[in-house]
Amino acid sequence: LSADDVAEPHRICVCIRKRPLNKQELNKKEIDVVSVPGKGVLMVHEPKQKVDLTKYLENQTFQFDYSFDETSTNDLVYKFTAKPLVQSIFEGSMATCFAYGQTGSGKTHTMGGDFTGKQQNSAKGIYALAAQDVFALLNHRRYANLDLSVYVSFFEIYNGKVYDLLNKKAKLRVLEDDRQQVQVVGLEEVYVSAAEDVIKMIQMGSACRTSGQTSANANSSRSHAILQIVLRRNDRATTLHGKFSLVDLAGNERGTDVSSNDRSTLVETAEINRSLLALKECIRSLGKNSDHIPFRMSTLTKVLRDSFIGDKSKTCMIAMVSPTMSSCEYTMNTLRYADRYLLV
Ligand code: ADP
Ligand code: MG
Repeated sequence: LSADDVAEPHRICVCIRKRPLNKQELNKKEIDVVSVPGKGVLMVHEPKQKVDLTKYLENQTFQFDYSFDETSTNDLVYKFTAKPLVQSIFEGSMATCFAYGQTGSGKTHTMGGDFTGKQQNSAKGIYALAAQDVFALLNHRRYANLDLSVYVSFFEIYNGKVYDLLNKKAKLRVLEDDRQQVQVVGLEEVYVSAAEDVIKMIQMGSACRTSGQTSANANSSRSHAILQIVLRRNDRATTLHGKFSLVDLAGNERGTDVSSNDRSTLVETAEINRSLLALKECIRSLGKNSDHIPFRMSTLTKVLRDSFIGDKSKTCMIAMVSPTMSSCEYTMNTLRYADRYLLV
């Protein structure tokens, strides 16, 4: 057995990121019930009685590859999650990075950053940080002779349908050919020559993402947004070399949301649950090196099919949690979802 035969230890990486209490929560005197006592540990203190909030019984501990507390920056989270995957696409990998969690837990903050506002020096997200590194590596001695070009796609999946965020939200069809290759027909793939181009694309695309109404957040996103950074060889066929899919998943709040019982919301929620379940199953299959990948279970997993097959596929899940007691139930759901990956 040579060193090359040894499986990479980190095909799947699962992390937790806790966001800080925000102003409104502080004003409402909400309590922080989540703590991160160690590098890979997260604790939720579930008070048994609502009255006595200091009585933290039945503490639950979860283990992850990394857990990031409320003081961690996007830069730090990036370094331990997506950064190694950027390198891997230059080695020919199909990588994915998912932001999972309840609406308002920090998925978009982590992926897209906070540069939608006017501030100049606001925090860059994983999209922008990854784009920067892609161009740094493209010009690196080690990869220069590969003669690669970078392309970007950006689309969303809402209610199982694909919409192109780089082409006026054109509704696209997902087709599977007889060799099981999945294609999003007509998806724009834009050539980019600098990280700034990617950032511009993201800003353009983000502006037209679908938002819906949930009690958690009126502007919450009920769609999955997928940014793909694609490396192609500069040959006549522009052969695919590697691909990085960065996914800002729809909020995982379940059908427990009684305040919104109109039909369209229920349909939305059912579809989201189905795709998140499918995702979990596909990642588990990846971890088991299984030949059977249940990618047909949802549009999300269908379009990411490439990323779940082959021994070069790598994935990273960043599960976001809100710190408050009122989010406790959602937080537990998130931790259970992410924790399952460790059984792989
Ligand atoms: P989601 O996309 O999961 O619905 P957002 O990323 O929109 O959540 O985050 C909700 C709010 O919390 C935003 O105002 C965002 O700026 C803020 N926020 C999220 N994560 C952090 C963080 N780690 N540090 C500071 N503010 C954060
Ligand atoms: Mg969001």
